[in-house]
Amino acid sequence: MAPPTPAPTGHPPHTATVAGVPVDTRHWIDGTRVASPATFTDHSPIDGTPLAGIARGTAAEARAAVAAADAAFTGGSDRSGWAATPPAERAALLHAVADGVDARAEELAAVETADNGALLRSHRRGVLPRVAHNFRYFADRLLALSHDDFDTRGHTNHVSWDPAGPAVLITPWNAPLMLSSWKIAPALAAGSTVVLKPSEWTPLTASLLADITHEAGLPPGVFNVVQGYGDEAGAALTAHPDVRRISFTGSVPTAHRIAAAAAAHLVPCGFELGGKSPLLVLADADLDLAADLAVEQYDNAGQICLAATRILVEESVRDAFLGRFLDRAAKLTQGDPRDEATDIGPSIHPRHVERVDGFVRRALAAGATAVIGGAPSPGPTDAPGGNYYLPTLLTDVDQDSEIVQEEVFGPVLTLQTFPDGDEDEAVRLANGTRFGLAATLVAGDRERAARIGARLVAGTVWVNCFYVRDLSAPFGGARHSGIGREGGDWSFDFYCDLKNTVTAPKGWADHG
Ligand code: NAD
Repeated sequence: MAPPTPAPTGHPPHTATVAGVPVDTRHWIDGTRVASPATFTDHSPIDGTPLAGIARGTAAEARAAVAAADAAFTGGSDRSGWAATPPAERAALLHAVADGVDARAEELAAVETADNGALLRSHRRGVLPRVAHNFRYFADRLLALSHDDFDTRGHTNHVSWDPAGPAVLITPWNAPLMLSSWKIAPALAAGSTVVLKPSEWTPLTASLLADITHEAGLPPGVFNVVQGYGDEAGAALTAHPDVRRISFTGSVPTAHRIAAAAAAHLVPCGFELGGKSPLLVLADADLDLAADLAVEQYDNAGQICLAATRILVEESVRDAFLGRFLDRAAKLTQGDPRDEATDIGPSIHPRHVERVDGFVRRALAAGATAVIGGAPSPGPTDAPGGNYYLPTLLTDVDQDSEIVQEEVFGPVLTLQTFPDGDEDEAVRLANGTRFGLAATLVAGDRERAARIGARLVAGTVWVNCFYVRDLSAPFGGARHSGIGREGGDWSFDFYCDLKNTVTAPKGWADHG
Protein backbone atom coordinates (compact mmCIF):
# COMPACT_ATOMS: atom_id res chain seq x y z
CA MET A 1 0.00 0.00 0.00
CA ALA A 2 1.31 3.46 -0.86
CA PRO A 3 2.70 5.51 2.03
CA PRO A 4 0.93 8.74 2.95
CA THR A 5 1.86 11.89 1.10
CA PRO A 6 5.30 12.80 2.41
CA ALA A 7 5.84 16.32 3.65
CA PRO A 8 9.39 16.33 4.91
CA THR A 9 10.34 19.95 4.33
CA GLY A 10 8.81 23.39 4.29
CA HIS A 11 5.24 23.97 5.35
CA PRO A 12 2.87 22.38 2.86
CA PRO A 13 -0.73 23.20 3.65
CA HIS A 14 -2.07 21.12 6.53
CA THR A 15 1.37 20.18 7.78
CA ALA A 16 3.07 21.43 10.91
CA THR A 17 6.67 20.64 11.70
CA VAL A 18 6.96 19.80 15.39
CA ALA A 19 10.30 18.84 16.93
CA GLY A 20 11.53 18.44 13.36
CA VAL A 21 8.74 15.99 12.50
CA PRO A 22 6.09 16.78 9.87
CA VAL A 23 2.61 16.22 11.31
CA ASP A 24 -0.58 16.37 9.26
CA THR A 25 -3.07 18.61 11.03
CA ARG A 26 -6.20 17.18 9.42
CA HIS A 27 -8.56 14.38 10.38
CA TRP A 28 -7.97 10.85 9.15
CA ILE A 29 -11.23 9.47 7.80
CA ASP A 30 -11.73 6.45 5.54
CA GLY A 31 -8.04 6.22 4.75
CA THR A 32 -7.69 9.80 3.63
CA ARG A 33 -6.92 13.23 5.07
CA VAL A 34 -9.92 15.49 5.57
CA ALA A 35 -9.74 19.19 6.37
CA SER A 36 -12.29 21.29 8.27
CA PRO A 37 -13.29 24.86 7.51
CA ALA A 38 -12.04 25.97 10.94
CA THR A 39 -8.90 25.17 12.91
CA PHE A 40 -7.77 25.62 16.50
CA THR A 41 -4.25 26.29 17.76
CA ASP A 42 -2.33 23.70 19.70
CA HIS A 43 0.35 25.10 22.05
CA SER A 44 3.37 23.50 23.69
CA PRO A 45 3.22 23.45 27.50
CA ILE A 46 7.01 23.70 27.59
CA ASP A 47 7.15 27.36 26.57
CA GLY A 48 3.70 28.24 25.27
CA THR A 49 4.71 28.34 21.59
CA PRO A 50 2.01 27.55 19.03
CA LEU A 51 2.73 24.17 17.47
CA ALA A 52 0.01 23.68 14.90
CA GLY A 53 -3.36 24.76 13.58
CA ILE A 54 -5.49 21.64 13.95
CA ALA A 55 -8.66 20.80 12.02
CA ARG A 56 -11.64 21.59 14.22
CA GLY A 57 -14.03 18.70 13.79
CA THR A 58 -17.78 19.16 13.91
CA ALA A 59 -20.82 16.91 13.56
CA ALA A 60 -20.09 16.60 9.82
CA GLU A 61 -16.68 15.01 10.33
CA ALA A 62 -18.04 12.89 13.17
CA ARG A 63 -20.75 11.54 10.85
CA ALA A 64 -18.26 10.86 8.07
CA ALA A 65 -15.91 9.02 10.42
CA VAL A 66 -18.63 6.83 11.95
CA ALA A 67 -19.98 6.05 8.47
CA ALA A 68 -16.47 5.03 7.37
CA ALA A 69 -15.98 2.90 10.47
CA ASP A 70 -19.38 1.27 9.96
CA ALA A 71 -18.71 0.48 6.30
CA ALA A 72 -15.25 -0.87 7.08
CA PHE A 73 -16.73 -3.04 9.82
CA THR A 74 -19.25 -4.87 7.61
CA GLY A 75 -17.45 -4.49 4.28
CA GLY A 76 -20.49 -4.20 2.02
CA SER A 77 -22.58 -6.91 0.43
CA ASP A 78 -19.85 -9.55 0.44
CA ARG A 79 -19.27 -8.97 4.19
CA SER A 80 -15.53 -8.73 3.58
CA GLY A 81 -15.04 -6.13 6.29
CA TRP A 82 -12.80 -5.94 9.32
CA ALA A 83 -15.22 -8.00 11.43
CA ALA A 84 -14.88 -10.90 9.01
CA THR A 85 -11.13 -10.57 8.55
CA PRO A 86 -9.57 -13.77 9.92
CA PRO A 87 -8.01 -13.24 13.37
CA ALA A 88 -4.55 -14.21 12.10
CA GLU A 89 -4.73 -11.43 9.49
CA ARG A 90 -5.93 -8.88 12.00
CA ALA A 91 -3.15 -9.92 14.36
CA ALA A 92 -0.52 -9.63 11.62
CA LEU A 93 -1.67 -6.10 10.81
CA LEU A 94 -1.49 -5.10 14.48
CA HIS A 95 2.04 -6.47 14.65
CA ALA A 96 2.86 -4.32 11.62
CA VAL A 97 1.45 -1.29 13.47
CA ALA A 98 3.67 -2.15 16.46
CA ASP A 99 6.68 -2.37 14.14
CA GLY A 100 5.76 1.04 12.72
CA VAL A 101 5.59 2.48 16.23
CA ASP A 102 9.03 1.05 16.97
CA ALA A 103 10.43 2.42 13.73
CA ARG A 104 9.13 5.92 14.49
CA ALA A 105 9.56 5.81 18.27
CA GLU A 106 12.05 8.68 18.38
CA GLU A 107 9.75 10.94 16.35
CA LEU A 108 6.69 9.95 18.35
CA ALA A 109 8.52 10.60 21.63
CA ALA A 110 9.75 14.02 20.51
CA VAL A 111 6.34 15.13 19.27
CA GLU A 112 4.53 13.79 22.34
CA THR A 113 6.90 15.66 24.65
CA ALA A 114 6.51 18.89 22.68
CA ASP A 115 2.73 18.48 22.83
CA ASN A 116 2.04 17.32 26.39
CA GLY A 117 5.23 18.25 28.27
CA ALA A 118 5.91 14.84 29.82
CA LEU A 119 9.56 13.83 30.08
CA LEU A 120 11.26 12.89 26.83
CA ARG A 121 13.27 10.20 28.61
CA SER A 122 10.05 8.62 29.94
CA HIS A 123 8.55 8.65 26.46
CA ARG A 124 11.65 7.09 24.95
CA ARG A 125 12.29 4.43 27.56
CA GLY A 126 8.89 3.69 29.02
CA VAL A 127 5.96 4.92 26.98
CA LEU A 128 6.85 4.15 23.37
CA PRO A 129 7.97 0.55 24.02
CA ARG A 130 4.72 0.15 25.92
CA VAL A 131 2.66 1.56 23.05
CA ALA A 132 4.17 -0.97 20.66
CA HIS A 133 3.64 -3.69 23.26
CA ASN A 134 -0.04 -2.77 23.51
CA PHE A 135 -0.51 -3.64 19.83
CA ARG A 136 1.53 -6.85 20.04
CA TYR A 137 -0.08 -8.00 23.26
CA PHE A 138 -3.67 -7.73 22.03
CA ALA A 139 -2.75 -9.23 18.65
CA ASP A 140 -1.36 -12.29 20.40
CA ARG A 141 -4.15 -12.40 22.92
CA LEU A 142 -6.70 -12.46 20.11
CA LEU A 143 -5.17 -15.66 18.77
CA ALA A 144 -5.30 -17.25 22.20
CA LEU A 145 -8.92 -16.25 22.99
CA SER A 146 -10.91 -19.29 23.95
CA HIS A 147 -13.42 -20.58 26.41
CA ASP A 148 -13.82 -24.25 27.22
CA ASP A 149 -17.03 -25.67 25.82
CA PHE A 150 -19.33 -27.02 28.51
CA ASP A 151 -22.21 -29.36 28.67
CA THR A 152 -25.84 -28.88 29.66
CA ARG A 153 -27.77 -32.16 29.70
CA GLY A 154 -25.89 -33.37 26.63
CA HIS A 155 -26.08 -29.99 24.85
CA THR A 156 -22.80 -28.21 24.06
CA ASN A 157 -22.33 -24.56 25.05
CA HIS A 158 -19.80 -22.79 22.86
CA VAL A 159 -18.83 -19.21 23.79
CA SER A 160 -17.51 -16.87 21.09
CA TRP A 161 -16.57 -13.21 20.87
CA ASP A 162 -18.42 -11.42 18.05
CA PRO A 163 -17.01 -7.98 17.16
CA ALA A 164 -19.46 -5.32 18.33
CA GLY A 165 -19.10 -2.64 15.64
CA PRO A 166 -17.72 0.90 15.43
CA ALA A 167 -16.14 2.03 18.69
CA VAL A 168 -15.61 5.67 19.63
CA LEU A 169 -12.50 6.16 21.75
CA ILE A 170 -12.08 9.44 23.61
CA THR A 171 -8.81 10.13 25.36
CA PRO A 172 -7.24 12.77 27.62
CA TRP A 173 -4.01 14.76 27.34
CA ASN A 174 -1.87 13.36 30.13
CA ALA A 175 -0.67 10.25 28.28
CA PRO A 176 -2.14 10.50 24.78
CA LEU A 177 -0.47 7.66 22.88
CA MET A 178 -0.21 5.34 25.83
CA LEU A 179 -3.89 5.61 26.71
CA SER A 180 -5.24 5.63 23.16
CA SER A 181 -3.19 2.63 22.04
CA TRP A 182 -4.47 0.76 25.05
CA LYS A 183 -7.96 1.13 23.62
CA ILE A 184 -7.21 1.03 19.88
CA ALA A 185 -5.26 -2.24 20.02
CA PRO A 186 -7.92 -4.38 21.72
CA ALA A 187 -10.76 -2.77 19.75
CA LEU A 188 -9.09 -3.55 16.43
CA ALA A 189 -7.96 -6.98 17.59
CA ALA A 190 -11.53 -7.75 18.57
CA GLY A 191 -12.70 -6.93 15.03
CA SER A 192 -14.36 -3.65 15.90
CA THR A 193 -13.47 -0.52 13.94
CA VAL A 194 -12.39 2.71 15.57
CA VAL A 195 -12.95 6.45 15.61
CA LEU A 196 -10.43 8.11 17.93
CA LYS A 197 -10.97 11.63 19.29
CA PRO A 198 -7.79 12.74 21.05
CA SER A 199 -7.72 15.64 23.47
CA GLU A 200 -7.67 19.09 21.86
CA TRP A 201 -4.67 19.86 24.08
CA THR A 202 -2.62 16.96 22.61
CA PRO A 203 -3.79 16.17 19.09
CA LEU A 204 -0.47 15.48 17.36
CA THR A 205 0.65 11.89 17.93
CA ALA A 206 -2.81 10.57 16.99
CA SER A 207 -2.14 11.97 13.55
CA LEU A 208 1.23 10.24 13.34
CA LEU A 209 -0.41 7.02 14.47
CA ALA A 210 -2.88 7.34 11.59
CA ASP A 211 0.09 7.45 9.21
CA ILE A 212 1.56 4.38 10.88
CA THR A 213 -1.67 2.37 10.59
CA HIS A 214 -1.87 3.32 6.93
CA GLU A 215 1.73 2.32 6.27
CA ALA A 216 1.06 -0.95 8.12
CA GLY A 217 -1.71 -1.71 5.63
CA LEU A 218 -4.84 -1.25 7.75
CA PRO A 219 -7.78 -1.01 5.31
CA PRO A 220 -9.47 2.41 4.94
CA GLY A 221 -12.07 3.17 7.58
CA VAL A 222 -10.81 0.63 10.11
CA PHE A 223 -9.02 3.34 12.09
CA ASN A 224 -10.16 6.96 11.93
CA VAL A 225 -9.12 10.09 13.81
CA VAL A 226 -11.40 13.07 14.33
CA GLN A 227 -9.70 16.09 15.85
CA GLY A 228 -11.52 18.79 17.75
CA TYR A 229 -13.08 20.01 20.94
CA GLY A 230 -14.83 17.70 23.34
CA ASP A 231 -18.16 19.50 23.41
CA GLU A 232 -18.20 19.68 19.61
CA ALA A 233 -16.49 16.73 17.87
CA GLY A 234 -16.56 14.54 20.99
CA ALA A 235 -20.21 15.21 21.72
CA ALA A 236 -21.21 14.52 18.10
CA LEU A 237 -19.36 11.19 18.11
CA THR A 238 -20.80 9.97 21.38
CA ALA A 239 -24.34 10.89 20.31
CA HIS A 240 -24.12 9.05 16.99
CA PRO A 241 -26.70 6.23 16.71
CA ASP A 242 -24.44 3.85 14.74
CA VAL A 243 -21.74 3.72 17.40
CA ARG A 244 -21.68 0.38 19.24
CA ARG A 245 -19.14 1.07 21.99
CA ILE A 246 -17.73 4.16 23.70
CA SER A 247 -14.51 3.92 25.65
CA PHE A 248 -13.60 7.08 27.51
CA THR A 249 -10.66 8.06 29.67
CA GLY A 250 -10.98 11.47 31.28
CA SER A 251 -12.74 13.40 33.99
CA VAL A 252 -15.89 12.60 35.92
CA PRO A 253 -17.93 15.60 34.65
CA THR A 254 -17.26 14.59 31.03
CA ALA A 255 -18.22 11.00 31.84
CA HIS A 256 -21.61 12.25 33.03
CA ARG A 257 -22.15 13.98 29.68
CA ILE A 258 -21.01 10.98 27.65
CA ALA A 259 -23.15 8.59 29.69
CA ALA A 260 -26.18 10.78 29.01
CA ALA A 261 -25.42 10.84 25.26
CA ALA A 262 -24.85 7.09 25.16
CA ALA A 263 -28.08 6.42 27.03
CA ALA A 264 -30.11 7.68 24.07
CA HIS A 265 -28.99 4.67 22.01
CA LEU A 266 -28.14 2.30 24.87
CA VAL A 267 -24.47 2.21 23.87
CA PRO A 268 -22.26 0.41 26.37
CA CYS A 269 -19.55 2.65 27.82
CA GLY A 270 -16.22 1.91 29.44
CA PHE A 271 -15.05 4.71 31.72
CA GLU A 272 -11.56 5.25 33.17
CA LEU A 273 -11.93 8.35 35.30
CA GLY A 274 -10.29 10.35 38.01
CA GLY A 275 -8.67 9.30 41.22
CA LYS A 276 -7.65 10.48 44.67
CA SER A 277 -5.67 7.47 45.64
CA PRO A 278 -4.10 6.91 49.07
CA LEU A 279 -0.52 5.95 49.90
CA LEU A 280 -0.64 4.21 53.26
CA VAL A 281 2.62 4.09 55.22
CA LEU A 282 2.48 1.65 58.13
CA ALA A 283 4.77 1.98 61.13
CA ASP A 284 6.78 -1.11 60.26
CA ALA A 285 7.31 -0.04 56.64
CA ASP A 286 10.68 0.44 54.98
CA LEU A 287 10.55 4.23 55.25
CA ASP A 288 13.12 4.77 52.51
CA LEU A 289 10.95 2.78 50.15
CA ALA A 290 7.88 4.71 51.34
CA ALA A 291 9.62 8.04 50.68
CA ASP A 292 10.77 6.87 47.23
CA LEU A 293 7.23 5.87 46.33
CA ALA A 294 5.78 9.11 47.69
CA VAL A 295 8.15 11.29 45.67
CA GLU A 296 7.32 9.23 42.57
CA GLN A 297 3.81 10.69 42.77
CA TYR A 298 5.21 13.93 41.30
CA ASP A 299 5.96 12.12 38.02
CA ASN A 300 4.40 13.77 34.97
CA ALA A 301 3.89 16.83 37.19
CA GLY A 302 1.30 14.84 39.12
CA GLN A 303 -0.87 14.43 36.03
CA ILE A 304 -1.39 10.71 36.45
CA CYS A 305 -4.84 9.38 37.24
CA LEU A 306 -3.37 6.68 39.47
CA ALA A 307 -1.18 9.03 41.50
CA ALA A 308 -1.33 8.31 45.22
CA THR A 309 -1.79 11.92 46.22
CA ARG A 310 -3.04 11.35 49.78
CA ILE A 311 -0.21 10.17 52.02
CA LEU A 312 -1.58 8.52 55.17
CA VAL A 313 1.12 7.75 57.74
CA GLU A 314 0.91 5.85 61.01
CA GLU A 315 1.51 8.52 63.63
CA SER A 316 4.71 7.25 65.26
CA VAL A 317 6.68 7.28 61.98
CA ARG A 318 5.35 10.56 60.62
CA ASP A 319 8.46 12.61 61.31
CA ALA A 320 10.88 9.91 60.21
CA PHE A 321 8.94 9.47 56.98
CA LEU A 322 8.59 13.20 56.38
CA GLY A 323 12.33 13.81 56.80
CA ARG A 324 13.13 11.18 54.19
CA PHE A 325 10.47 12.53 51.85
CA LEU A 326 11.77 16.10 52.09
CA ASP A 327 15.36 14.98 51.47
CA ARG A 328 14.29 13.38 48.23
CA ALA A 329 11.93 16.15 47.17
CA ALA A 330 14.74 18.70 47.60
CA LYS A 331 16.76 16.84 44.98
CA LEU A 332 14.05 16.96 42.29
CA THR A 333 14.86 19.09 39.28
CA GLN A 334 12.00 20.92 37.64
CA GLY A 335 12.53 22.14 34.11
CA ASP A 336 12.49 21.44 30.41
CA PRO A 337 11.15 17.92 29.84
CA ARG A 338 13.55 17.44 26.94
CA ASP A 339 16.49 17.70 29.33
CA GLU A 340 17.72 14.32 30.62
CA ALA A 341 18.30 15.79 34.08
CA THR A 342 14.72 17.00 34.53
CA ASP A 343 12.48 15.12 36.96
CA ILE A 344 9.35 17.29 36.78
CA GLY A 345 8.23 19.03 33.62
CA PRO A 346 5.47 21.52 32.98
CA SER A 347 1.74 21.19 33.55
CA ILE A 348 -0.34 20.88 30.43
CA HIS A 349 -1.95 24.33 30.07
CA PRO A 350 -2.04 27.77 31.72
CA ARG A 351 -5.69 27.11 32.62
CA HIS A 352 -4.67 23.90 34.31
CA VAL A 353 -2.00 25.66 36.38
CA GLU A 354 -4.64 28.15 37.49
CA ARG A 355 -6.93 25.29 38.45
CA VAL A 356 -4.19 23.54 40.45
CA ASP A 357 -3.25 26.79 42.15
CA GLY A 358 -6.89 27.47 42.99
CA PHE A 359 -7.08 24.18 44.91
CA VAL A 360 -3.89 24.99 46.80
CA ARG A 361 -4.85 28.58 47.63
CA ARG A 362 -8.22 27.48 48.96
CA ALA A 363 -6.54 24.77 51.05
CA LEU A 364 -4.05 27.28 52.51
CA ALA A 365 -6.90 29.67 53.29
CA ALA A 366 -8.65 26.84 55.10
CA GLY A 367 -5.62 26.27 57.37
CA ALA A 368 -3.35 23.91 55.46
CA THR A 369 0.44 24.30 55.67
CA ALA A 370 2.62 24.11 52.56
CA VAL A 371 5.67 22.18 53.77
CA ILE A 372 7.11 22.59 50.28
CA GLY A 373 5.83 24.40 47.18
CA GLY A 374 2.36 25.87 47.24
CA ALA A 375 2.66 28.16 44.21
CA PRO A 376 3.26 28.28 40.46
CA SER A 377 6.87 28.32 39.38
CA PRO A 378 8.42 30.55 36.72
CA GLY A 379 10.00 27.40 35.28
CA PRO A 380 13.38 27.25 33.62
CA THR A 381 14.90 30.62 32.77
CA ASP A 382 15.90 29.48 29.31
CA ALA A 383 12.33 28.45 28.42
CA PRO A 384 10.02 31.17 29.71
CA GLY A 385 6.31 30.99 29.09
CA GLY A 386 5.83 27.41 30.28
CA ASN A 387 3.21 26.18 32.71
CA TYR A 388 5.10 25.13 35.82
CA TYR A 389 3.84 24.42 39.32
CA LEU A 390 6.13 23.69 42.26
CA PRO A 391 6.01 20.21 43.76
CA THR A 392 3.85 20.75 46.80
CA LEU A 393 3.16 18.94 50.07
CA LEU A 394 0.31 20.13 52.28
CA THR A 395 -0.19 19.17 55.91
CA ASP A 396 -2.89 20.20 58.41
CA VAL A 397 -5.67 19.12 56.08
CA ASP A 398 -9.04 17.71 57.11
CA GLN A 399 -10.48 14.56 55.63
CA ASP A 400 -13.59 16.45 54.55
CA SER A 401 -11.73 19.34 52.95
CA GLU A 402 -11.74 19.99 49.22
CA ILE A 403 -8.00 19.34 48.89
CA VAL A 404 -8.42 15.83 50.31
CA GLN A 405 -11.65 15.02 48.51
CA GLU A 406 -11.15 16.39 44.98
CA GLU A 407 -8.72 15.37 42.26
CA VAL A 408 -6.17 18.17 41.70
CA PHE A 409 -4.27 16.42 38.88
CA GLY A 410 -1.11 18.38 39.60
CA PRO A 411 2.07 18.01 41.70
CA VAL A 412 0.18 18.40 44.96
CA LEU A 413 0.25 15.83 47.77
CA THR A 414 -1.38 15.93 51.18
CA LEU A 415 -0.13 14.29 54.37
CA GLN A 416 -2.43 12.97 57.11
CA THR A 417 -1.80 10.61 59.99
CA PHE A 418 -3.75 7.87 61.73
CA PRO A 419 -3.23 6.64 65.31
CA ASP A 420 -0.79 3.77 65.80
CA GLY A 421 -2.45 0.40 65.45
CA ASP A 422 -5.80 1.86 64.37
CA GLU A 423 -6.43 -0.06 61.17
CA ASP A 424 -10.08 0.95 61.10
CA GLU A 425 -9.09 4.60 60.96
CA ALA A 426 -6.45 3.93 58.30
CA VAL A 427 -9.05 2.20 56.15
CA ARG A 428 -11.66 4.89 56.85
CA LEU A 429 -9.31 7.61 55.64
CA ALA A 430 -8.08 5.59 52.67
CA ASN A 431 -11.59 4.78 51.48
CA GLY A 432 -13.05 8.13 52.44
CA THR A 433 -13.47 9.78 49.04
CA ARG A 434 -15.85 9.19 46.15
CA PHE A 435 -13.01 7.67 44.10
CA GLY A 436 -11.54 4.17 44.05
CA LEU A 437 -8.95 3.92 41.30
CA ALA A 438 -5.86 2.64 43.12
CA ALA A 439 -4.20 2.39 46.52
CA THR A 440 -0.58 1.95 47.53
CA LEU A 441 0.35 0.30 50.79
CA VAL A 442 3.86 0.30 52.27
CA ALA A 443 4.22 -2.23 55.04
CA GLY A 444 6.72 -4.55 56.70
CA ASP A 445 4.29 -7.19 57.88
CA ARG A 446 2.67 -9.34 55.18
CA GLU A 447 -0.36 -10.32 57.22
CA ARG A 448 -1.17 -6.79 58.22
CA ALA A 449 -0.69 -5.61 54.64
CA ALA A 450 -3.01 -8.35 53.36
CA ARG A 451 -5.61 -7.54 56.03
CA ILE A 452 -5.67 -3.84 55.24
CA GLY A 453 -5.30 -4.32 51.48
CA ALA A 454 -8.38 -6.53 51.42
CA ARG A 455 -10.46 -3.70 52.89
CA LEU A 456 -9.36 -1.01 50.43
CA VAL A 457 -11.84 0.11 47.77
CA ALA A 458 -9.68 0.31 44.64
CA GLY A 459 -9.30 -1.21 41.20
CA THR A 460 -5.60 -1.81 41.87
CA VAL A 461 -3.77 -2.18 45.18
CA TRP A 462 0.02 -1.98 45.09
CA VAL A 463 1.91 -3.34 48.08
CA ASN A 464 5.47 -2.01 48.53
CA CYS A 465 5.48 -0.91 44.89
CA PHE A 466 3.74 1.48 42.50
CA TYR A 467 2.73 1.50 38.85
CA VAL A 468 3.53 -2.12 38.10
CA ARG A 469 1.01 -2.85 35.37
CA ASP A 470 0.62 -6.01 33.36
CA LEU A 471 -1.67 -5.93 30.34
CA SER A 472 -3.14 -9.25 31.43
CA ALA A 473 -4.42 -7.69 34.65
CA PRO A 474 -7.79 -5.95 34.91
CA PHE A 475 -7.44 -2.20 35.13
CA GLY A 476 -10.14 0.25 36.14
CA GLY A 477 -11.73 1.99 39.04
CA ALA A 478 -14.42 1.56 41.65
CA ARG A 479 -17.03 4.20 42.52
CA HIS A 480 -16.52 7.45 40.55
CA SER A 481 -13.17 6.27 39.21
CA GLY A 482 -14.79 4.32 36.44
CA ILE A 483 -17.03 1.67 35.00
CA GLY A 484 -15.65 -1.58 33.63
CA ARG A 485 -12.15 -2.94 33.26
CA GLU A 486 -9.53 -2.83 30.52
CA GLY A 487 -6.73 -5.32 29.97
CA GLY A 488 -6.54 -9.01 29.06
CA ASP A 489 -9.79 -10.64 28.04
CA TRP A 490 -11.76 -7.91 29.79
CA SER A 491 -10.94 -5.65 26.83
CA PHE A 492 -12.24 -8.25 24.39
CA ASP A 493 -15.39 -8.66 26.44
CA PHE A 494 -15.98 -4.92 26.06
CA TYR A 495 -15.35 -4.57 22.33
CA CYS A 496 -17.33 -7.73 21.48
CA ASP A 497 -20.79 -9.12 21.90
CA LEU A 498 -20.27 -12.42 23.64
CA LYS A 499 -22.31 -15.20 22.15
CA ASN A 500 -23.18 -18.62 23.50
CA THR A 501 -24.16 -21.21 20.90
CA VAL A 502 -26.02 -24.15 22.42
CA THR A 503 -26.06 -27.24 20.22
CA ALA A 504 -28.30 -30.22 20.86
CA PRO A 505 -27.10 -33.79 20.37
CA LYS A 506 -30.16 -34.57 18.25
CA GLY A 507 -31.64 -33.48 14.93
CA TRP A 508 -28.61 -34.17 12.75
CA ALA A 509 -29.23 -35.57 9.29
CA ASP A 510 -26.52 -38.15 9.85
CA HIS A 511 -28.01 -38.95 13.31
CA GLY A 512 -24.43 -38.64 14.59
P1 NAD B 1 -11.63 15.71 30.09
O1 NAD B 1 -12.75 14.90 30.62
O2 NAD B 1 -11.72 17.17 30.18
O3 NAD B 1 -11.37 15.38 28.55
C1 NAD B 1 -11.08 14.07 28.11
C2 NAD B 1 -11.52 13.93 26.67
O4 NAD B 1 -12.93 14.07 26.60
C3 NAD B 1 -10.93 14.97 25.72
O5 NAD B 1 -10.61 14.35 24.50
C4 NAD B 1 -12.09 15.93 25.52
O6 NAD B 1 -12.04 16.61 24.30
C5 NAD B 1 -13.26 14.97 25.56
N1 NAD B 1 -14.55 15.57 25.88
C6 NAD B 1 -14.80 16.67 26.64
N2 NAD B 1 -16.13 16.92 26.68
C7 NAD B 1 -16.72 15.97 25.93
C8 NAD B 1 -18.08 15.69 25.59
N3 NAD B 1 -19.09 16.43 26.02
N4 NAD B 1 -18.34 14.62 24.82
C9 NAD B 1 -17.34 13.83 24.37
N5 NAD B 1 -16.04 14.06 24.64
C10 NAD B 1 -15.73 15.11 25.42
O7 NAD B 1 -10.34 15.16 30.83
P2 NAD B 1 -8.84 15.70 30.70
O8 NAD B 1 -8.73 16.98 31.43
O9 NAD B 1 -8.44 15.63 29.26
O10 NAD B 1 -8.04 14.55 31.46
C11 NAD B 1 -7.83 14.55 32.83
C12 NAD B 1 -8.75 13.57 33.51
O11 NAD B 1 -8.56 12.27 32.95
C13 NAD B 1 -8.46 13.43 34.98
O12 NAD B 1 -9.66 13.40 35.70
C14 NAD B 1 -7.75 12.09 35.07
O13 NAD B 1 -7.84 11.46 36.32
C15 NAD B 1 -8.44 11.33 34.01
N6 NAD B 1 -7.64 10.18 33.60
C16 NAD B 1 -8.03 8.92 33.97
C17 NAD B 1 -7.28 7.81 33.63
C18 NAD B 1 -7.70 6.43 34.04
O14 NAD B 1 -7.21 5.46 33.45
N7 NAD B 1 -8.58 6.26 35.02
C19 NAD B 1 -6.11 7.98 32.91
C20 NAD B 1 -5.72 9.27 32.55
C21 NAD B 1 -6.50 10.36 32.89
